[in-house]
Amino acid sequence: MSERAIISDVAPRDGLQSIGPFVPTATKIELVRRLHAAGIRRMEIGSFVSPKAVPQMADTGEVLRAALALPGLESTVLAPNRKGFELAKAAGAQRVGLFMSVTESHNKANVNRTCAESFADLSAIVADALAAGMQVRFNLSCCFHCPFEGVVPESTPLAWVARVAALDPAMEIAIADTTGNAAPDQVRRVMAQAVKAFPAPDGGPRFAYHGHDTYGLGVANVAAAWDAGCRVFDSAAGGLGGCPFAPGATGNVATEDVAWLFHRMGVETGIDWAKLLDAADYAADVPGGTPGGRMRAVPAARRAA
Ligand code: ZN
Repeated sequence: MSERAIISDVAPRDGLQSIGPFVPTATKIELVRRLHAAGIRRMEIGSFVSPKAVPQMADTGEVLRAALALPGLESTVLAPNRKGFELAKAAGAQRVGLFMSVTESHNKANVNRTCAESFADLSAIVADALAAGMQVRFNLSCCFHCPFEGVVPESTPLAWVARVAALDPAMEIAIADTTGNAAPDQVRRVMAQAVKAFPAPDGGPRFAYHGHDTYGLGVANVAAAWDAGCRVFDSAAGGLGGCPFAPGATGNVATEDVAWLFHRMGVETGIDWAKLLDAADYAADVPGGTPGGRMRAVPAARRAA
């Protein structure tokens, strides 16, 4: 198993999507460029979702074009349905991100379908995406806590992990704390069981952890997921983020906080600290955004840059 942590910055999508005022395309592209300059080699660039539903993501095609020009960057675009997948494929995204919730009420609120309906649709898209040579990230939302159903029994995400893992032996699966109300012991147990039960055929990373920092446990949950064998982590520069369908959820765990955690643990991330702080400051200054995270405010961390 790799001892390197792979950080996928989701600020361009999860960080920006719930901001009210439209963020200019040039600002989004500049954020992507600064993150790339900081050594980030995976990003969630945007979402091919209906611009009526999420107006902030209307320029995903344009931001993706700019991202695809950056050397070594793997761009993920979220697709809520087949139409979104077709757009992501046509636009040349290296990876398509699919998603469903593991709780019925959140899935209903988010995509107006039952979990079984979502899974059936997404299974067909997974097959087509893999046949088209795309990488796939299958995101399972609300694996620990649901804004409608409360704490989620651990058997629920694990049952969905088993069904998703059966679709393909190597596809990346993200276990997500959508509301930021997971507890580290819960994350450790669920992730450890998933990693143990469904190892990647090549020994590489198969599971990703996506967390928010609503209750201040974002970094602790990342550390728990790492201890459990997870090697891919979503985070957002400047701690931007929130979920319009998970009331009260605040930002993603901040990339700079996660990068510092791994730095202190001696885990390689490939990130340039000074340039990451620059990108994080830029993300935090996006008008209308609600930034979070700790490291930007720590003088000694800034001096380390
Ligand atoms: Zn999220």
